[in-house]
Amino acid sequence: MERETLFVDILLPLPLEAHFTYRVPFKLNSDVSIGKRVVVQFGKKKLYSGIIMKVHQTIPSHANVKYILNILDIKPIVNPIQIRLWKWLSDYYMAYEGEVMNAALPTSLKLASESKLILNPDFDGNYDLLNDKEFLIVQALERHHIITLTEASKIIDQKKIMHLVKTLIEKGCILPEEEIRDRFKPKTESYVRLSEDYKSEKSLESLTRILEKRAFKQLELLLVFLQHSKFFSKSPKQISKAFLLSKSGLSSSIITALEKRGVLEVYQKSQSRLKDFAATKQLSSLKLSEKQEVALGQISNIFTEKDVCLLHGVTGSGKTEIYIKLINEYLKIDKQVLFLVPEIALTAQIINRLREYYGDKLGYYHSRYGNNERVEVWQNINANTKKSYKIIIGARSSIFLPFSNLGLVIVDEEHDSSYKQYDPSPRYHARDSAIVLAKMHDAKCLLGSATPSLESYYKTTTNKYGLVNLDERFSKVNMPEILVVDTVEAYRKKEMKSHFTKLLLDQIAEALENKEQVILFQNRRGFSLRLVCESCQWTPECTNCDVSLTYHKQIGRLKCHYCGASKDVPTKCPNCGGNKLVMKGFGTEKIEEELPVFFPDVKVKRMDLDTTRSKNAYLQIINDFQDRKIDVLVGTQMVSKGLDFDNVSLVGVMNADNLLYYPDFRSFERSFQQLTQVSGRSGRQHKRGKVVIQTAQPYHAVIRDVIDNNFLSMYKSQMEERASFKYPPFYRVIRISLKHRDYHVLNDGARYFTDLLLPKLGSRVLGPEYPAVGRIKNYYIKNVLVKFEINASHKAVKTIIKEAIKEMFQEKSYRYILIQADVDPV
Ligand code: ADP
Ligand code: ZN
Ligand code: ZN
Repeated sequence: MERETLFVDILLPLPLEAHFTYRVPFKLNSDVSIGKRVVVQFGKKKLYSGIIMKVHQTIPSHANVKYILNILDIKPIVNPIQIRLWKWLSDYYMAYEGEVMNAALPTSLKLASESKLILNPDFDGNYDLLNDKEFLIVQALERHHIITLTEASKIIDQKKIMHLVKTLIEKGCILPEEEIRDRFKPKTESYVRLSEDYKSEKSLESLTRILEKRAFKQLELLLVFLQHSKFFSKSPKQISKAFLLSKSGLSSSIITALEKRGVLEVYQKSQSRLKDFAATKQLSSLKLSEKQEVALGQISNIFTEKDVCLLHGVTGSGKTEIYIKLINEYLKIDKQVLFLVPEIALTAQIINRLREYYGDKLGYYHSRYGNNERVEVWQNINANTKKSYKIIIGARSSIFLPFSNLGLVIVDEEHDSSYKQYDPSPRYHARDSAIVLAKMHDAKCLLGSATPSLESYYKTTTNKYGLVNLDERFSKVNMPEILVVDTVEAYRKKEMKSHFTKLLLDQIAEALENKEQVILFQNRRGFSLRLVCESCQWTPECTNCDVSLTYHKQIGRLKCHYCGASKDVPTKCPNCGGNKLVMKGFGTEKIEEELPVFFPDVKVKRMDLDTTRSKNAYLQIINDFQDRKIDVLVGTQMVSKGLDFDNVSLVGVMNADNLLYYPDFRSFERSFQQLTQVSGRSGRQHKRGKVVIQTAQPYHAVIRDVIDNNFLSMYKSQMEERASFKYPPFYRVIRISLKHRDYHVLNDGARYFTDLLLPKLGSRVLGPEYPAVGRIKNYYIKNVLVKFEINASHKAVKTIIKEAIKEMFQEKSYRYILIQADVDPV
């Protein structure tokens, strides 16, 4: 082993096709293994940390193979199953493996290219081995602690210093900062222990006698310490300084005095940032209803034959309680469980419900979580000890955690489009990836929803997935009563007050009178949709994007929802000079402001992207609503998802037409889902709730299906449409977006690209076409859609597309067109 020549193939966090082969210095031979991070030089200057994907002895064909510079991990941070998942994601979603690696690893584990140097803390200060230039750099580092490569090259007055840096790294004198030194620093806490001199009973006895006379408080503290650390028992406990102070009620100066006396020692212990939570309820105290019990039995049965099961349970049927019971079956056989939720807004409620039963077996993970916390969860799972989390609740990125022994994956609200990552690549669907991940672990996967996606439901009809229905609410409360108001007629009869019909206002009044709460749903944020000139219909547009701007009252400006740019509100129409500019359409902010006009004392809060930017804003709003500090919650789709409030008796949908007329093949399916979901927030536990839907299309088939709570009717009619227009789940879709700043280059390039595909794919290619918004952030966009039969080889199609993309890159005039593929767009 020692003298063998080993090579490693390294995955770098870069959008590049290949793995790169490096040679292993003999002295590191026994340390290399798959899944560890190594530092390598890539290109002329840059150092990267990459991951070892393969260890082998095949001599690469190219001549100058570089050595790896260092190994960062003692234990692999990525396991073989993860590597398989990355590979799958990269193939399936047409992303580079380096991009998948980037999405998968928390920032502090994926050390990016950097050019800063620090002194190696292990450097023994032996300068004899250094030449003059090396010495200068080490000296500079001793003085300044951190210098950049540029500074280093100035110090020694030499441009090419990479080699020198490399030697210095090899000699163990310096480290590239960030590549090497994890930014992740575990939090530490002070602990107290008895020093060696006083560990015998005899010495303690004589000590107590001294303290008794001269330092009573010190004695008191010592006794508290001995008692709580169970010092004389077989398994003494570690005691933190904070704990000792609070138990003794003494000040820290007493500890200092004992420290000075040489009795106690204070030491630092790394402390998990994640607080410990103990379970407060016994699992056996959770009694399922008869229907829930039956459903749970069916799921377990299905899992003996199939890997995936869809739980189709109406809103409020108590799916969560079924999950809670099911999870335990897997913990009993020592398996890990992953519980996916689509939005962070949802995690808070679910976590609290699961924590009651599972306490600190439960960890959570999502992108809004701080970097250090994420690394902690990662390492906790990777360590895979008795103390590691057994259940992870998380948003989509939690599929990337280093699970070694998954038994069950739950995908709650599986229909939700937030499971799809749009930007940056990999554009993966977390539900579909989770199914693949489960398969790799030989684990089971439970999808849950009140409004399943057509894709998942279809798979139950072809027997790929099992299906379990739960068609009754827990505690047998009826599904909410849904009232539909025709806004066209209301306008005609002049019964509209601003954006409220009389029916909706009456219902709100009644709910408020009964001290019940109300949710108002409007799928647009902002104050008013847009400004329009009454005489010429001019409307202000974003200068970077082809969309009209939205007025935001809070900032008193017009804002672009695509690029974030904002503008002052014009006083006159710049087109015709007219001065009658009116607001058209309405958003959440306007509703929030108007309500007090009708109900002066009402407490209104708004939940949308604008009000939930800060880390805990969601939680605050949800808690305030739960605690009834808010009467009416106005919100975008955020309020529609999975939340469980016990005092909401009315849900109002301000305008269903926005949903129905969104230009997308899924818009009817989505409308059904959103309307059903938001309705489902009404009257969950004790009393039948009400829903008022305002629409210009009261007889629209989707609205009817929502009223009747008839998923199957919507499913059937939509499936017919999908079949005849060749859409999922019968066909697969890959959307390729081409982007360029120059309109003409893009136009020609998109044509050229399409012509490359046509001979091979024929009528499966559609476009190029401008999307609904044809320019974003100054980039013109054209889309090409490839639709192909579900049974056709998707690998073959993807190869054809990849080749076309490569050819575009070789064509000089189109080289700079940005081409992005989105597989299974939502
Ligand atoms: P779903 O997720 O299916 O919409 P939930 O799981 O939120 O439904 O359940 C609806 C409500 O009924 C929740 O408040 C939940 O606590 C309650 N519930 C459901 N099942 C039980 C049960 N077995 N015991 C007590 N409460 C239950
Ligand atoms: Zn005008
Ligand atoms: Zn813009």
